[in-house]
Amino acid sequence: MSLKKQIVLWYTVWTLFLMAIIFLMFFAVSDSLSLRAMRHDVEETLSDAASALYRDDKRLYFGNLDEYDDGVYVLVYSSDGKKMFGRELPSLKSVGYQEGQRVLSISGATWVVSDMMMTGFYIRSASMMSDLYTFFSSDYLPLILLAPLMVVVSALGGYFIVRRSFRPLEDLINTASDIAGGNDLDKRLSSSKTEEGRALSDSFNAMLGRLDESFKREKEFSDDASHELRTPLAVIRAECEYALSVSDDKNEVEGALNAIAKETDRMTRLVSALLEISRSDKGTIRIRKRDFSISDLLSSIAEEMCEIAEDKGLSFSSSIEDGIIVHADDDMITRAVINLIDNAISYSKENGKIEISLKTDGPDAVIAVRDDGIGISADDQRRIFDRFFQVDKSRKGSSSGLGLAMVKEIARLNGAKVEVESSLGSGSLFTFSLPFIEEN
Ligand code: ADP
Repeated sequence: MSLKKQIVLWYTVWTLFLMAIIFLMFFAVSDSLSLRAMRHDVEETLSDAASALYRDDKRLYFGNLDEYDDGVYVLVYSSDGKKMFGRELPSLKSVGYQEGQRVLSISGATWVVSDMMMTGFYIRSASMMSDLYTFFSSDYLPLILLAPLMVVVSALGGYFIVRRSFRPLEDLINTASDIAGGNDLDKRLSSSKTEEGRALSDSFNAMLGRLDESFKREKEFSDDASHELRTPLAVIRAECEYALSVSDDKNEVEGALNAIAKETDRMTRLVSALLEISRSDKGTIRIRKRDFSISDLLSSIAEEMCEIAEDKGLSFSSSIEDGIIVHADDDMITRAVINLIDNAISYSKENGKIEISLKTDGPDAVIAVRDDGIGISADDQRRIFDRFFQVDKSRKGSSSGLGLAMVKEIARLNGAKVEVESSLGSGSLFTFSLPFIEEN
């Protein structure tokens, strides 16, 4: 049986059960109330009858005495038990005189009988309450008749509410099986009318959105990766074919082998970067954080990179604050900084200027790499940290578009932040800020 039916059934059975209890309580209370009212009516009618009767020396006068008044019978008997006034009531025939009021049970009915002795005769007032009579004369009769209708209405109402509440869940099941069947992550749950349903569909849709985006990114990533790997492979193959065709010419063969070695280096770098990014995505990348002097690290990187920059005819300057200690993975930070300086060198203009600095700013140690190179447009600045993004795709060499994506990942893993400020044609400033723990 479906959960919906189970809930409605349980709820209806409970309503029935509660109604039965309420009615039983009503009956018990109304029974005792009716009996009390009856006893009062019988007593009142008896005293009214006593005052309506009068007699003279010869006979008894009944005046305007009624045999039956508002459910109460009035009878008058002579002192030897002969009926003088009133209807013949077979049930009371065998009930003898007894002064005062009694409640008697006679053939399934409850009787209230009250006798009052006068001189030479006695008056009896009596009223009967049968179970059936009580039932139909009860004030609760409309309620009793309405009860089944109320149960039906409440069961139907419950069913509609349950059906409506379950709709988002059914929607979810259908959408999930559609996705499972067709792998279509574009599907979304329709918005529900209930608050809970809306919350469910919103979070499910948000989850689908994230999954969809991450699958698309994943796909883009593997497409880009295969594309990037295809180029060096094609070059290697072409160089091999060329080397074979000129196998007698040692110089040409050497040239081809050099080209192959260069492309192999490029592929190695690319594959290492891919591996690192994929490990970081899977969360299996190993981070070895320790306290170290970022000032010392940056000084030695600056020394090394200064040579490379100057070899390319660029001017290189550094301003490094001493004694700043951070807690991070020094290998990763080294790779990130080298990447930023590498880019500054690669995208500089002729005789360009590169400046690197380290200083504290609030709780952060801020590494800044500034160049006066080609710069990046505002549009491209939003995408340069994306994997495989390159402003100028035709520019190959050692670039793969993975460098800044890796810098961003390293920043994330080390609780740091990487930002760019740039304007096209007049250079860029990359800052890498990470919290420091000590400064001398
Ligand atoms: P790449 O291997 O292409 O350098 P990156 O991820 O390091 O990949 O950089 C992405 C793109 O951002 C580069 O292709 C380049 O267009 C742009 N870029 C990065 N650094 C700079 C810079 N200092 N000046 C100008 N453009 C830059």
